[in-house]
Amino acid sequence: MKFALLAKTFNKIESTSGTLAKIDLLVKLFRGTSSDLVDKIIYLMAGHPSWMDEPEIGIAEKSAIKAVAQVHGISVSKLEEKLGKLSGQPESITVDLGALVESLKKSTRQKTLFDEGPLTITEVYESLKSIARFSGSGSSAKKLRSLEALLRRASPAEGKWIIRMVEGKFRIGIADKAILDALAITYTGDKVNRNVIETAYNICTDLGLIARTLAYEGLDGIKNIRIRVGVPIKMMLGQRLPTIEEILKKFGGTCGCEFKYDGIRIQAHKKGEIITLFSRNLEKITKQFPDVGEQIKRLPHDQVIVEGECVAIDPETQKLRPFQELMHRRRKFDIDKAIKQYRVKLFLFDLLYLNGKSYLNEKYEDRRRVLEETIAGSEMGLAEQRIVDNVDDFENFLEESLNSGCEGLMAKALNSKYTAGARGWSWIKFKFSYQEQLTDTIDLVIVGALMGRGKRAGAYGSLFGAIYNPDTDQFEISCKIASGFTDMDLEQFKKTFSSLQLVNKDSRVIDSPTIKPDVWFEPKVVLEVKGDEITLSSKYPAARDVIRKGYGLSIRFPRLVTIREDKKPEDATTRDELIQLYETQRTLQGKAKN
Ligand code: AMP
Repeated sequence: MKFALLAKTFNKIESTSGTLAKIDLLVKLFRGTSSDLVDKIIYLMAGHPSWMDEPEIGIAEKSAIKAVAQVHGISVSKLEEKLGKLSGQPESITVDLGALVESLKKSTRQKTLFDEGPLTITEVYESLKSIARFSGSGSSAKKLRSLEALLRRASPAEGKWIIRMVEGKFRIGIADKAILDALAITYTGDKVNRNVIETAYNICTDLGLIARTLAYEGLDGIKNIRIRVGVPIKMMLGQRLPTIEEILKKFGGTCGCEFKYDGIRIQAHKKGEIITLFSRNLEKITKQFPDVGEQIKRLPHDQVIVEGECVAIDPETQKLRPFQELMHRRRKFDIDKAIKQYRVKLFLFDLLYLNGKSYLNEKYEDRRRVLEETIAGSEMGLAEQRIVDNVDDFENFLEESLNSGCEGLMAKALNSKYTAGARGWSWIKFKFSYQEQLTDTIDLVIVGALMGRGKRAGAYGSLFGAIYNPDTDQFEISCKIASGFTDMDLEQFKKTFSSLQLVNKDSRVIDSPTIKPDVWFEPKVVLEVKGDEITLSSKYPAARDVIRKGYGLSIRFPRLVTIREDKKPEDATTRDELIQLYETQRTLQGKAKN
């Protein structure tokens, strides 16, 4: 199958608004694709040559620019100028490198090299896979040469999509959920089967493998999908409740309470000597935490999947340090230095798999017991836990947790399963204190900005944040964030957001006529913010009409807490959560008055 056909379909999907229409186009594509190709297409869309043990493509933007410059015979600085990189003015950046390659190829009418025939999907896939596999000395040069060779053979549209695959920035506005819908329609003829497929996907998030299994074995094959060590399992999430009484009631009077550590969630996979660490949004973060990886490697078991919260600690006192210190581990360079300077400790709280046995359907109590046995003797920590059956004990344990530098408690139902990918009522987080009204933070997806004036000229002055509505798969704007930015944050925003700038609003973003950003962004980056209060608002569309007709919910005086690199846009605070926070706040305000 020709790669040109794929490039054409992606162009169509990109210019189509509306998720349903995009799904239709995907279905058409999959229907015309042979079973052996469907996984490759999915891996190409993800910019990753498969999950299992394959390295990432590993070409940084700078190198991709070099390759494009070389192929088109222009200088790197000229290309950077075209990208608006040199002016430092985010306003001037409206093109991404992929789009630039497309227009360069069109305008220079550079002859596409057809000597070897038109590109096929398999060729592009295999080339990117071999680019990913180059390692060791001289590998960067080899990667570049291979990319250049590929680009020389590409048509304008093909060049655009190859660059976007390499950069991992696909920009067609289609989430995994929509791909699951398209797969269900293509291979089972009915969208309702999405649920069965999604259940399999939640325990084995290799979308290519899911697609291949469906193509060859249909739904029966999907029902047999099991955990694979090395492929991340979608993480289980919790709900919130405003009072301890309500939490205990929900759990029939008794529950397991654990310290809620303020760090980064890690799902650690051990398969013999191979260790892979995944973040909450299922990205590989093994390289950033080699010290944690070594500790996992020392566990005396062949195959293990465990989960915990990785927290910064003071190595001398063993006291927990603030979340921000973990950010030093985010940089991929100088990691050896960062390991020594910023120590971390993994506090484990769940066991998902051990030596061929899945623990997902075991009770929390039992998982916890086996977890304890599994990590006995390890330098890693076990999340502090107490079984409580009354408000006093809950409050005392909460106080202990806060005094230790944690942010509250996670209450867990003793007999609950690990429900992969679900935000269920088996885990309930409790972060509220009665003194403050809104102590919990809110995670917002940034979808647009106003350009700065005065001191902030040339930067994004304020950002529009949106919550996520999983029912419609849309982002509903909830407020404008303009406080809590340091100069460093503003610089970081320029770098992060300029490459996400869109000419038109993303079709998944819900705005209202009174919201007028200067620029729109692809919804990708999640910021954690803290506000004073959740208020009813006639301006913002988040959760409109739920509490009062014509009004949405907004956040008063939102301040930036941190950039949540570990969260995907779909992990942002949901519409239901925002409504719940509003109602909690009302309950607490009512209590304060009495
Ligand atoms: P939130 O990010 O506010 O939705 O809270 C849920 C997060 O708390 C989880 O994703 C974990 O990263 C973190 N967490 C900290 N301690 C625990 C624990 N003992 N059990 C489960 N999650 C925890």
